Amino acid sequence: MSDLVVENLSLSFGGVMAIKDVSFSVEPGEIYAIIGPNGAGKSTIFNAISRIYRPDAGSISFRGQPLLERKANQIVDLGIARTFQNIELFENATVLDNLLVGRSSKVRTGWVSEWFFTRRVRAEEHAHRRKIEEILDLLDMQHYRYEKVADLAYGARKNVELARALCAEPQLLLLDEPASGLNPEETTDMSFWLKDIKEELGVTVVMVEHDMNLVGRIADRCMALANGQVLAVGSVADVQGDAHVQAAYLGG
Ligand code: ADP
Ligand code: MG
Repeated sequence: MSDLVVENLSLSFGGVMAIKDVSFSVEPGEIYAIIGPNGAGKSTIFNAISRIYRPDAGSISFRGQPLLERKANQIVDLGIARTFQNIELFENATVLDNLLVGRSSKVRTGWVSEWFFTRRVRAEEHAHRRKIEEILDLLDMQHYRYEKVADLAYGARKNVELARALCAEPQLLLLDEPASGLNPEETTDMSFWLKDIKEELGVTVVMVEHDMNLVGRIADRCMALANGQVLAVGSVADVQGDAHVQAAYLGG
């Protein structure tokens, strides 16, 4: 069974069709890239999956579960986490505190149990800490764990966002332009981390990305969009070589 199945999705803002009849599916464990010019509808697809926008037509399912019947806050419980095109973090909190917030969907004990079942809470806290340490190690973030997010360089802030999404222990990770604004060295690091996330954590990744070098290095498959419609799906090389895709990029 595919992890994510999007069928005939359409969504308009006022009279403007942002996406038209978009269908695609993502297989378990793959890194799937969505490419396309600005305004193509890439972020809109993510916003429809994460239930921020309601599509006009179509369906979305994750591991056989229909998503459009769920509320945005139920999506994370199904195992889907995302990052945003513009970083959204608690700026005045430390890196560690931001990750603890990312963990909140996993907190099972409420104040009542905290009062009565202290041992269980301790065990749970320990599990949270262990998970956070694992993510800090994976993304090489230990040296700035106590720094305030507002004081970090841009590349580090992007990592915090990625780490926070991983704290929810997703099975599907949606990344909106993970390498935008990164320098070449940071982009290379990002490519290794995304491979680790796929290979070591077994997470399925869907990423919107402009950097075709990065896409070529790590994506298993890729879908090109323009004007809200799918132009081509396939291996990165096939999609880059597609005549419709080339015309869209050249403005033809
Ligand atoms: P991309 O991420 O590919 O650059 P978007 O999905 O952000 O593109 O946008 C697709 C189209 O939908 C664009 O024409 C954009 O202006 C429009 N759009 C996106 N979000 C909104 C919104 N909240 N209100 C009105 N129009 C929007
Ligand atoms: Mg976008």
